[in-house]
Amino acid sequence: MNTKKIEKYLLELGESKFRLDQIKKAVYQDGIIDFAKISTLSKELREKLNSNFKILSAEPIEVLISQKKDSIKALLKLSDGNLIETVLISPKSNVWSACVSCQVGCAVGCSFCATGKIGFKRNLTSEEITDQVLFWKSYLRENNISGNFSNIVYMGMGEPFLNFEEVEKSLKVLISPDFFNFGSRKISVSTSGIMDKLEEFSEKFPQVNLALSLHSANPEKRSQLMPINQKYDLEKIKTELQKYLKKYKRKIFIEYLMIDGVNDGIEDAKILVDYLKLIGFEYLLHVNLIRYNDTNDKYKPSSKNKVKAFEKHLFDQKINVTIRKSLGQDIYAACGQLAGKK
Ligand code: SAH
Ligand code: SF4
Repeated sequence: MNTKKIEKYLLELGESKFRLDQIKKAVYQDGIIDFAKISTLSKELREKLNSNFKILSAEPIEVLISQKKDSIKALLKLSDGNLIETVLISPKSNVWSACVSCQVGCAVGCSFCATGKIGFKRNLTSEEITDQVLFWKSYLRENNISGNFSNIVYMGMGEPFLNFEEVEKSLKVLISPDFFNFGSRKISVSTSGIMDKLEEFSEKFPQVNLALSLHSANPEKRSQLMPINQKYDLEKIKTELQKYLKKYKRKIFIEYLMIDGVNDGIEDAKILVDYLKLIGFEYLLHVNLIRYNDTNDKYKPSSKNKVKAFEKHLFDQKINVTIRKSLGQDIYAACGQLAGKK
């Protein structure tokens, strides 16, 4: 919702300032996305607003629900016709987490990622990012789905640190008590390692969680998987993470995809452990092992046994590690499967 435009309009109508507060409460707190349903406003004002403004900047054109009902994916059409996807995940009952996109496509081009394959089309505006959260708030409300909206993760389509300006604005709106009022600690931003933005990000949002997509601590393998490694290599990542850990003493999540025969051997686990120990502050590092989700390419997910063996090696070396459950594969809503098409 573009509150600035609405504010101006209300002023022109001679409405009191309080009206905007009522609208903001209804939209951001209660998840109402239809002016006609904001019962605190007069019927006349609701009609005027309805004919002049839209609350959501994007239009949902398809919603898919996974068989287990623990993952819901929406395809949204932006005002210029571009399509993006956003996902609502329930990691445990009565808890919902929204996964938002920040770009149409992605320029980073990781070889395992469906978003990377479509290339970069454009950045999303802050409003288009936060409207995904608004969409899910209203979805839960309209469908009488119970549970708390617990987390927001920037793990949908796109690279947050390559759309820093709008991502920054969107984080402010999500955190602001005047708007969504989410706690910073409930929000996570995942980067493929655009390290020249880390300092600015952490200064502005020291409480927002950081996830780094590593996927291999072997330079050749990482470059093969993620061409961005040639620009921001493991050495650079190490230096920047050290600065962050030293200054903030905040946990960093290390995302590690498990791809069959590519980066999932014990040798790879050893290289990973060495690398993490070289960074230091191991107690602040938490590795999330994610079995590769199919994106119809040359890769296959690692077997469960291999993932377990990898986990055990990390665990034995006193590295915090979790095998992350992937939800929504049947509707192509899992990490890396978002391609923004029907
Ligand atoms: N661009 C950011 C955030 C979006 S991707 C980043 O890369 O970190 C969110 C997560 O999904 C990343 O950790 C990414 O590496 C992972 N991912 C990409 N493709 C995947 C796939 N096919 N299977 C599982 N995870 C994948
Ligand atoms: Fe972009 Fe992240 Fe996909 Fe890599 S994994 S192509 S950075 S969205």
